[in-house]
Amino acid sequence: MARIDLDHIRHAYGPNPKAPSDFALKQVNHSFKDGGAYALLGPSGCGKTTLLNIISGLLHPSHGRLLFDGHDVTDLSTQERNIAQVFQFPVVYDTMTVYDNLAFPLRNRGVPEAEVDGRVRETLAMLGLSERAGSRARRLTADDKQKISLGRGLVRSDVNAILFDEPLTVIDPHLKWVLRSQLKQLHRRFGYTMIYVTHDQTEALTFAETVVVMYDGEIVQIGTPDELFERPSHTFVGYFIGSPGMNVMPVELEGARARLGSQIIELPFPPANASGRIELGIRPEYVRIGRSGLPVRVTKVEDVGRHKIVRASLEGREIAAILGEDETLPADARVSFDPVGINLYQDSWRIETGV
Ligand code: ADP
Ligand code: MG
Repeated sequence: MARIDLDHIRHAYGPNPKAPSDFALKQVNHSFKDGGAYALLGPSGCGKTTLLNIISGLLHPSHGRLLFDGHDVTDLSTQERNIAQVFQFPVVYDTMTVYDNLAFPLRNRGVPEAEVDGRVRETLAMLGLSERAGSRARRLTADDKQKISLGRGLVRSDVNAILFDEPLTVIDPHLKWVLRSQLKQLHRRFGYTMIYVTHDQTEALTFAETVVVMYDGEIVQIGTPDELFERPSHTFVGYFIGSPGMNVMPVELEGARARLGSQIIELPFPPANASGRIELGIRPEYVRIGRSGLPVRVTKVEDVGRHKIVRASLEGREIAAILGEDETLPADARVSFDPVGINLYQDSWRIETGV
């Protein structure tokens, strides 16, 4: 296993890139710790696969360096980097048996046959494929093929890192949950450095200790699931994580208060380093809807099981709030903001207020 450092990585697919939009990766600096379990989370097209392929060596970055344990590997081949990668769609040798598909990456590296057998059988058992060991891969279902693909990544124990690129996309939801928890167990047992790419926040938050959020070719936040929820460093993280996402309202800063249209919101931690027009971010979970606070007009109530999502108009803007199971919505509803849930933003980036 290895620590992986990305040092000023940029990548453009086309020739002569000039504008920032010509770069699939704009500027990426990050250190993945040895033995860490990371999720790389972001919307489709933000550069996740590009970054993964640069780490594995399938793609050479236009600029920057990649280091494994401090050694520059930017010009090394995929083979020399010794990385296992699991792709979004199954990569399986149809004419080989399930067993041989898993044995292949080990035999390829000259692992003794006795050890190959032990590793392959163990991996097959973990994936629930033991009974299929002798079947030709082409006879299997799409789910089983994706499991073989996963197995080919997991079978090796000597790799520097295992990279997963949305490996469970085509797998049915129940099995997804099972496989994800097995990946976590594997991580605990072997201490692999794992980078797991997904566009699904639930998948990211349940898999990883550390979530790296990407947006438009950049890393916008690195944090624990809790940090991403409580202190989104960029308004995008606020929208993208959580359901519904964070409310973001333009306000005018007036000392320790924020003016929203004709309404005033008291700020618990007025920022010393900002002024004028900023944005106030607050998650629906921290918006109290009841009889006190700012007057709103309720526009929609959605029952989502354990709680309700209330949408209301505040000074002409929509705001979402969560109404608990045993709370009722008064006729002339008002909203107030739980101070611990308030974050302030300038030009989309969070303003440090010391909390
Ligand atoms: P993600 O995996 O997050 O969906 P990708 O890394 O696949 O994102 O893509 C990032 C950007 O690079 C997108 O704008 C995509 O259209 C572009 N891109 C990806 N692969 C290629 C390619 N082979 N040639 C040109 N552009 C590409
Ligand atoms: Mg992708």
